Amino acid sequence: MFTAINSHGETICLLHLQKDSIKMRATTWHCPQCHEEVIYKNGLAKRPHFAHTSQSICSKKEEETEEHLQGKQQLYEWLRPFADDLDIEKWLPNVNQRPDVWCVINGTVYVFEVQCSAIERKEIKRRSSNYFNHGIQVIWVLPERYLHRSSSSVYLQEWQLETCSVFPHSYPRLLFIGKQLQMVTLVSYLSPRKSSAFTESLPYTYSSFKKIIQPSSVNLEQLSGQLIYKNECRYGKRQLAKGLSLLVQEELLAARCPIHLHPSEVGWYVPAQVYINEPPLIWQLYVYLNLQKHQDQGLEEWIEGERSEIAKQLQITERQAELAMVQYFYLYKRMTTLANRGVTHPFPKSADEGHRYDQTCFLYSNCSITRAELG
Ligand SMILES: [Zn+2]
Repeated sequence: MFTAINSHGETICLLHLQKDSIKMRATTWHCPQCHEEVIYKNGLAKRPHFAHTSQSICSKKEEETEEHLQGKQQLYEWLRPFADDLDIEKWLPNVNQRPDVWCVINGTVYVFEVQCSAIERKEIKRRSSNYFNHGIQVIWVLPERYLHRSSSSVYLQEWQLETCSVFPHSYPRLLFIGKQLQMVTLVSYLSPRKSSAFTESLPYTYSSFKKIIQPSSVNLEQLSGQLIYKNECRYGKRQLAKGLSLLVQEELLAARCPIHLHPSEVGWYVPAQVYINEPPLIWQLYVYLNLQKHQDQGLEEWIEGERSEIAKQLQITERQAELAMVQYFYLYKRMTTLANRGVTHPFPKSADEGHRYDQTCFLYSNCSITRAELG
């Protein structure tokens, strides 16, 4: 860590000091969180930092890597010119967390977390919702070595998907840190660990920051992976997952509809997909059938009544379930109102007929279409 408390009770940040000045001060250093004595380290392998002793019981005691120290410093230097308030390793007692970088920009509180090692997905989920519940926007940042891509596809492990920033009317994005920032926007589901995506290199400037927090605009060509996935579902080239799919298939059986004759309004990509382990066709069929049963309800009422059950079935938090429901609801509305295909029966009679409806629906699959455009 870069911060410690000296013997006069002052919190000192190494990023604000000249390299040699610190050596001049005869003092003991203490951790701002646990108040144990910490050691000032200024060796060759890592930039100057403080570290706990090996006997420490502090939650921040694990030895930081140079990669992590460097990432934190890069973010801090980037935000410094334009943040209204900025702090590194700020202890937030209410949240019981100590984010790598904390800042206030245009009235919004952001924290940046640099994640340099694999971690359990539920731990990312826990920390993210903890920040969210305290009105803080968390932005996870991964080192560039985690960016695995080939042309327009990106490969992500489960815990990495949980680090995506998800905005209601925009596609999920991940941030990678290196010489420049790499912002990766996910636009289609290809398989559980593979998405089609596009990557933008951003310099360390204020306009890059604005770009990261604003919804991205995406065109249909970039979304074409969605239609590929839909066709594979339509023509039986996708193996059905277990779990939820059994439940969904039972319901379809009751409605006398084989899965390849699913309604065209399911199986598209929505941002909340990154939280959900089930493929889009399966979970959206489940949500679609649920929505049909509550057609007389408005969005709020439907969410209120069904959120916890949907969260349970999809194994996500209630907040994530709400996001998924809102996003799916608007997708459904776009497709049924804007596509205006004049079809009264939702289940197509053949795969080819379904495929034709799919192509019309695809034109309205873009999540950047906002509520306002729906009228
Ligand atoms: Zn400590």
